[in-house]
Amino acid sequence: MTTRTLIRGGQIVSMDPGVGDLPRGDILVTDDTIEAVTPNIDVADAEVIDATGRIVIPGFIDSHRHTWEAAIRGSAPNATLDDYFVEILDTFAPKYRPEDVYASNLAGSLECLNAGITTLVDWSHINNTPEHPDAAIRALQETGIRAQYAYGSANTSLADYWNESKIAIPADDVRRIRDSYFSSTDGLLTMALATRGPGFTLPDVVRAEWQIAADLDIPITVHVAMGRLAGRFGMVKTLSDMGLLRPGTTYIHSCYLHDDEWRMVAHSGGYISVAAQVETQMGHGWPPAVRAYAEGLAPSLSIDVVTTVPGDMFTQMRAAFGADRARINADCWQADTPVPEYMPTARQMLEMATINGARVAGFDGRTGSLTPGKQADIVLIDATAINVAPVLDPVAAVVCSADVSNVDTVMVGGVIRKRDGHLLADVGRARNLAESSRDYLVAATGFAKK
Ligand SMILES: [Zn+2]
Repeated sequence: MTTRTLIRGGQIVSMDPGVGDLPRGDILVTDDTIEAVTPNIDVADAEVIDATGRIVIPGFIDSHRHTWEAAIRGSAPNATLDDYFVEILDTFAPKYRPEDVYASNLAGSLECLNAGITTLVDWSHINNTPEHPDAAIRALQETGIRAQYAYGSANTSLADYWNESKIAIPADDVRRIRDSYFSSTDGLLTMALATRGPGFTLPDVVRAEWQIAADLDIPITVHVAMGRLAGRFGMVKTLSDMGLLRPGTTYIHSCYLHDDEWRMVAHSGGYISVAAQVETQMGHGWPPAVRAYAEGLAPSLSIDVVTTVPGDMFTQMRAAFGADRARINADCWQADTPVPEYMPTARQMLEMATINGARVAGFDGRTGSLTPGKQADIVLIDATAINVAPVLDPVAAVVCSADVSNVDTVMVGGVIRKRDGHLLADVGRARNLAESSRDYLVAATGFAKK
């Protein structure tokens, strides 16, 4: 049976140049697909969502998050990246059981939906046993979020998995997971390989992991050029020397890429994921949003770790916006030159958080904009709230004023996951499970607040 939903009378920011922005418009959704976006749609048989006073945008896309860390939210507020490797990857991660991954992915995915994030790249380097990936994927399936599950390594010690690791991700288990859950590529969930890359692993491991991705025809996502930790590795240059730069590879952070490495990413068809709040707060370097645009790339935004930063895209848009403008202004002040005409704009921030992210997360052409024919991943922002109204510019309202409390309605693939400000899910169960995991993990690690 066909179901039709009419989202009526909203202020539409489509992020599709062909559709444009509509001061007042209707969106017709048929089953999982956007059928029409026009000023006025008359249909008799549709369920109507009144979008009066709402700004309607495509769902946000988080192009990299370690969702397994939801149970240890806020455990490392003051951490640098170096601290994080010790406090999280060498302390909490080895203790993770499958049920902790399940609880975190359940709570973390609901956190995403609540914040208007309809698509997530789950960078899951917590596969301490073969039961861990199954647990992660089960939670993603249950919440109904759209996600690219990125299968990562185990994380049972820094010495084994991050310091010139000799241990490759197990090809047979990656294949098992692909065959069990991802034999079709048109569902809500797809798959990638979350690799550690040169410096963190020995060359033979790099080659082996890139070969797994090639054999299974899945994309690779990898952290590169983070400040003092990985800036020295020259990871993209090394991958180029090894002949491993491939189209569709996501390079996360990229704060200290050399000029020639930027060109290598661009020429090889690579993608960029900027985690602006983490990068400024934890010492990775300046978030390279403007730089990526200048190289002809379309950068995306990501959360990374809720151990240390908030899990919503409003924070990321504002962190990227503020950081780039701060850096450019400071450089110009120091050099005693005027600020350049080209400065990042609010619309670019929304682009990074939506349409650019769709490509990076592997859902290009299926989400990221309110375009007829695309999947109905739609978010309504309450523009009547006192922190948003009055609206003069809907893009400014979303990027510079709104927050998670204003996310009124969230639809993923035509299914409503949040309505009138409330998640349509068992939030209490997810929170209880996450709290139980927290209790276990705190006891197992002897965690003491700093
Ligand atoms: Zn990360």
